[in-house]
Amino acid sequence: MAESDTEFDLVVLGGGSAGYAAALRAAQLGSSVALIEARELGGTCLHRGCIPTKALLHAAEVADSARDAATVGVRATLDGVDMAAVHAYKDKTVDGLYRGLQGLVASRKVTLVEGWGTLTAPDTVEVDGVAYRGRAVLAAPGARSRTIPGVEIRGRVVTSDEALRLQEVPSSVVVLGGGVIGVEFASAWRSFGASVTIVEALDHLVPTEDVSSSKALERAFRRRGIDLRLGTRVAGVTQDDTAARVTLEDGTTLDADVLLVAVGRAPATGDLGLSEVGARLDDGFVVVDDTLSTGVGPLYAAGDAVRGPQLAHRGFAQGIFLAEHLAGLAPTPLDDAGIPRVTYSEPEVASVGLTETQARARYGAEGVDTMEYNLAGNGRSKILGTQGHVKLIRAKDGPVVGVHLVGSRVGEQIGEGQLIVNWEAHPDEVAALVHAHPTQNEAMGEAHLALAGKPLHAHN
Ligand code: NAD
Repeated sequence: MAESDTEFDLVVLGGGSAGYAAALRAAQLGSSVALIEARELGGTCLHRGCIPTKALLHAAEVADSARDAATVGVRATLDGVDMAAVHAYKDKTVDGLYRGLQGLVASRKVTLVEGWGTLTAPDTVEVDGVAYRGRAVLAAPGARSRTIPGVEIRGRVVTSDEALRLQEVPSSVVVLGGGVIGVEFASAWRSFGASVTIVEALDHLVPTEDVSSSKALERAFRRRGIDLRLGTRVAGVTQDDTAARVTLEDGTTLDADVLLVAVGRAPATGDLGLSEVGARLDDGFVVVDDTLSTGVGPLYAAGDAVRGPQLAHRGFAQGIFLAEHLAGLAPTPLDDAGIPRVTYSEPEVASVGLTETQARARYGAEGVDTMEYNLAGNGRSKILGTQGHVKLIRAKDGPVVGVHLVGSRVGEQIGEGQLIVNWEAHPDEVAALVHAHPTQNEAMGEAHLALAGKPLHAHN
């Protein structure tokens, strides 16, 4: 236990997903913990990321339901979107979770230190002139929005931080970057009635996903009237009182009320003293081994500041891993490929494990079998009016190594996908398990039946 007010078993720098998970688990295991946070406990995910954006996307789904009500025989009209009320709903959701988290941290007797922390030694973090020493120190500073050279964030040119606080629905938007953030905001704004264009440098939206998922999302977005400029780079951006003007490399210009810059998030590691105390940074990311150690004294790092998928649930898992590692419980290091991924657009994209391209690289072109089951054959999806598919990738005669889903609400199914991939299940083992009818989840069962050679509602 702590020897004094400023000496702890674990000092955590950053109260986001990775930092607070480490603090809570370490405290649960009997350690004394200081958690240092300059802004609000919960970090980007709770206050500027996962939670507020999903609230916005739920409001967007309600707008779509109202607009399309007549298709199921319900008389309703969409009169408009009251952004002040949308923000109130979103903020209330965030506030409730924030209060819950504050209560949890207090109840586990974690010492919360409010202020900006800087490493002055591998085992010491200084806040407002007070040095906090830890038997172990975890740097979990997260990441922040970045931009591209020549595109300054101000006025009509915004990142997701400002986009979450816009007081009106913009009448037109250009989204720079067709990754997760770009696609989610494009989807919400389109549902709210904006005209939306996405400019993506690579050939596909969500380019790290299996190409079948990217193509299905592109088809759905085009049907929704979202303009896609793929394989296109931006040459310049200007703005005045009336519009932001985006010039593409081919000379085309696009004018919009708002330009959202969503070209990735950079690790927030610049001003923490990390390199000064000897930690190695690679393009800003903290270099760690598979136990999250920097190799410099008792200094560890986790979350978005460590290279890999920038996902809150990866941060939680790393935080828990570290607390258990420090307690000598010998937990299994995390495998990034086994972490599920969800893009919460309409339609959703969800996946776990390898894409077909990755599987072919690993097992050889002849060493891979795939199965794509179209949601058109799934009753519940038909009722919801959604299109999409389940795609499975297996090592030939071996386990399922990739699960890829596209369609409304499919993100909720990736839990089963991750058990299948991480437990290295074979298609016939999953096919032997009964999936409830009529659920969208049944499509997962049907795809495994088909891959096991006994399709029920799929054509051979
Ligand atoms: P991203 O890396 O997912 O996507 C950025 C996209 O911008 C890429 O497709 C890239 O090719 C494109 N791009 C880069 N420079 C460009 C240019 N000059 N012109 C046109 N396109 C360009 O990054 P993001 O969408 O900003 O998200 C940041 C991180 O946050 C990601 O790691 C993401 O996984 C995470 N995140 C996750 C979720 C979720 O899990 N639902 C939601 C939001 C963010």
